[in-house]
Amino acid sequence: MPFCRTKCSFCNFASGVFSRALFDRYVGQVCAEIEAANDTARDLGGQLDCRVDSIYLGGGTPSVLAPDQLQRLFRAVRENFEVERTAEITVECAPGTISGEVIDALLGRGVNRVSLGVQSFVDKESSSVGRLHSRAITLDDIARLRSSGIGNISIDLIAGLPHQTEESWQLSLGETIGSGVPHVSVYMLEVDEDSRLGTELLAGGSRYHAHFVPDDDRTADLYLAACESLEQGGVQQYEISNFARPVTHGIGLRDSKHNLKYWTRQPYLGFGVDAHSMLFAGDDLHATGIEAVRFATPDSLEGYSAANDVAARAEQLLASRTLVNAQAALEESFFLGLRLNRGVSVTALKAQFGDQAIGSCSTVIAELIEDGLVEHWADRLRLTSKGRLLSNEVFARFLREETVDLH
Ligand code: SF4
Repeated sequence: MPFCRTKCSFCNFASGVFSRALFDRYVGQVCAEIEAANDTARDLGGQLDCRVDSIYLGGGTPSVLAPDQLQRLFRAVRENFEVERTAEITVECAPGTISGEVIDALLGRGVNRVSLGVQSFVDKESSSVGRLHSRAITLDDIARLRSSGIGNISIDLIAGLPHQTEESWQLSLGETIGSGVPHVSVYMLEVDEDSRLGTELLAGGSRYHAHFVPDDDRTADLYLAACESLEQGGVQQYEISNFARPVTHGIGLRDSKHNLKYWTRQPYLGFGVDAHSMLFAGDDLHATGIEAVRFATPDSLEGYSAANDVAARAEQLLASRTLVNAQAALEESFFLGLRLNRGVSVTALKAQFGDQAIGSCSTVIAELIEDGLVEHWADRLRLTSKGRLLSNEVFARFLREETVDLH
């Protein structure tokens, strides 16, 4: 969804503040893409299972859409897929955009989970990056969502915002834990070089509070403090950036079904600007050694909107298609699976890719263990807390090693 109320200073995602006149046309194009999903999957050589157990409407701020536009999107999904009765249906919302009308529209569409882009409960910090909400508005939104029956709420926080200190960060963490929401995501601020804040960090200036952005070491400390405080508050880490409370009266965590699909390499379809998809290969491609196909739509509203009909959209998607062979699938299994605290099962990977392919990684695994970045845990490999902080380095070393050994 490329529409937002304001543009955050650090963000260079294909989103912005567009006129409402564009919303309708965009929704129509996304609906057309959903309707063509079956043909698209076939044309790109993927297998499509029409049963759906997770829907996620996100990117930008979907809650700025009018209720009838939300309705059209969900209707298109329900008319073209079999949405399971227990499906997790999430919509990303910005605090301050959740009117009674929006809540009614969400409930009417079967939405049972809301992801709130809070980023900080300290008003000075959120306003410094262009957010319009306050702590009071956020707490009010949470209360109203709950009283309307949507208690499955996730809060996004950012470590490393301008003006953030250890004390102010603890305030945000305390409000988050105190709110009792079952899911929290914590990201370390990543400033896109081409964003307004990124430009100011490189070129100097004071408009976007660049002077007040904590340095990388302090941001890493804030992230570690979040892991500790959330754990103490009963919100357990299950992925590098994600934390969940245990399910009441049950086993397991209130983790995000949607995100687990990425990390465990399950197929998913994305629609709209800069939407990525992964499908297992159909029989013809599979016979040639291809495991999966990945494809994506253009990353700008202009590029996306340029496809006026189904044929033009199919051409865009075909141009973006990547064929994933066994080697690439193994690499993905490592660097996606290691994001999870439970890590990856070596037994399962051996069964899928063979002993030889996994054995080829033994040198890098031994090095990572020696460096304190990865550890064995029963038959699994998982990141240590140091490894979670330096995860990009771990993933790069796996990729490099596999490329050498498996060619
Ligand atoms: S960070 Fe999210 S809400 Fe802010 S501009 Fe980017 S997409 Fe929109």
